[in-house]
Amino acid sequence: MVIPQRRRPREELAVDFVISSDRCMMSNYHGREFLGFASTGPPIGLPEKAWRWIACPRMRVDDYGRPWQAPYGLRKIEAALQEAGFRAYVIDPDYIAYYVSRGAKALLVGHHDYFGFGPPSSEWWMLTGREPLNRRSFIEFISMPEIWEAKKRRGLRIVVGGPAVWQWEAWGEALERWPVDVLVEGEADRVIVEVAERILSGDELPRKIVVPPQESPRVEEIPLIRAPSVNGLVEVMRGCPRGCRFCSVTMKPLRFIPLNMIEEEILVNLKAGVGSIILHSEDVLLYGADGIRPRREPLERLHSMVAHYLEGYRAGFAWSHVSLAAVKYAEEHGRIVSRIASLVLDYDVRKFIGVEVGIETGSVRLARRIMAAKAAPYPIEEWPDVVVDAFNVMADNNIIPAATFILGLPGETEDDVYATIELIERLKPYPSLIVPMFFVPLGALKDQEGFRREYIREYHVEALRAAVEHTARWAQYILDRGYLDKPHHRLLKLALKMFIRYVEKKARRVYERVIGGYYGSKAVALASP
Ligand code: SF4
Repeated sequence: MVIPQRRRPREELAVDFVISSDRCMMSNYHGREFLGFASTGPPIGLPEKAWRWIACPRMRVDDYGRPWQAPYGLRKIEAALQEAGFRAYVIDPDYIAYYVSRGAKALLVGHHDYFGFGPPSSEWWMLTGREPLNRRSFIEFISMPEIWEAKKRRGLRIVVGGPAVWQWEAWGEALERWPVDVLVEGEADRVIVEVAERILSGDELPRKIVVPPQESPRVEEIPLIRAPSVNGLVEVMRGCPRGCRFCSVTMKPLRFIPLNMIEEEILVNLKAGVGSIILHSEDVLLYGADGIRPRREPLERLHSMVAHYLEGYRAGFAWSHVSLAAVKYAEEHGRIVSRIASLVLDYDVRKFIGVEVGIETGSVRLARRIMAAKAAPYPIEEWPDVVVDAFNVMADNNIIPAATFILGLPGETEDDVYATIELIERLKPYPSLIVPMFFVPLGALKDQEGFRREYIREYHVEALRAAVEHTARWAQYILDRGYLDKPHHRLLKLALKMFIRYVEKKARRVYERVIGGYYGSKAVALASP
């Protein structure tokens, strides 16, 4: 099901630039963005076919093989090239073989985790000893013989980019197995036009193009998407001012997208029948902010505009990310979070707002070292309380966070991990998912060593168990409270419930073995059933 099919479109489109990615990227995840996380793991407790159907189902395509919805980053590249007059389209992976064999000049590929080295794929891989689905899916995509045949016979150029482009160099073998022509690192909205011009005129291109943060496109240079993004995701801001050392986003300059641009993109999605709006930013509550202090006026203007369309189209709503310090500050200064919730929720179509948040650690000592501004404007010494207060605000306003924390950060001690476990305990009463991640060297810490399987200790297992127990309990609750409530979601809901029960049982058995001293106190064999 993930392996790209060789499908022939009903009608042929003249395409010079085929923009695409594998099925794990080119899916709308049943209309529920969060289900896309399933593709970061291998099939667990379910037959592979069922897992693939849960993680990344196919979407409908038009007569030309263009998908109904596509990843936002690919839509931006498509828009930039179309605006510059190129024949460039996002094409579904099942129709790639057809187009690259028919005279396309280049294949442009984007991904957020090409080879499964990013979090949380690498973590599932480490824990289960099995390749994550997204990695296999991408390898199947890029290995399609038609791509390499077209390169050999007609000089098809292959350009790869997106936030995970570093993985091509991190895995030495990748560029040997799939000798792509160009790697583009950084925001490509502008530079891609120059790349396309050089491809059409047959000019040489460097193997790697880096767009440094200071050359990132200005707001007026960012093109507007012309066709729907996955689940109606639209960007409201780029960059983040908090400067966490493990994060690469922080290098980008901060830019707020004007309301009229956001509105235009929302309408592209809604008019095409996409039934949701996801506001995307590293911290939506910092839209129009004064530094790291959320401001009521821009946030209310943004959400009033959104609420107008939510009402009109009976659409669902979510934020991509917010920071916990911004949640607390916004509520304590003008009840901004409550005001937004009352604007966008209606207890019928939109019963709650889903959002990703980063806890990262419960240890003040470690927080001070790796994310000194994470709690700002509150002192970092108050970080655990900031987290709990923000969870409290979200629970009061029907906002359900999917929170991540990181194990194996450089310099981590046993006490740091116990501080995180303690914090997870304090979060017990709040409806939320808590997802552990293992440290992957990125951002200012990119030269540090990543966390490895042999570094796992008992206290890591305890942290994993605390997270699994918390998440399993609240996931059942969320499923029972209207997540996936459409009649066609029944089977999916049942499969997810079975999966949750399986993970709970398995986690308990692993924990009992470890704590029972079965594996001793050193490295722990987590992959054993
Ligand atoms: S708050 Fe989030 S996006 Fe911002 S720097 Fe920290 S981890 Fe990155």
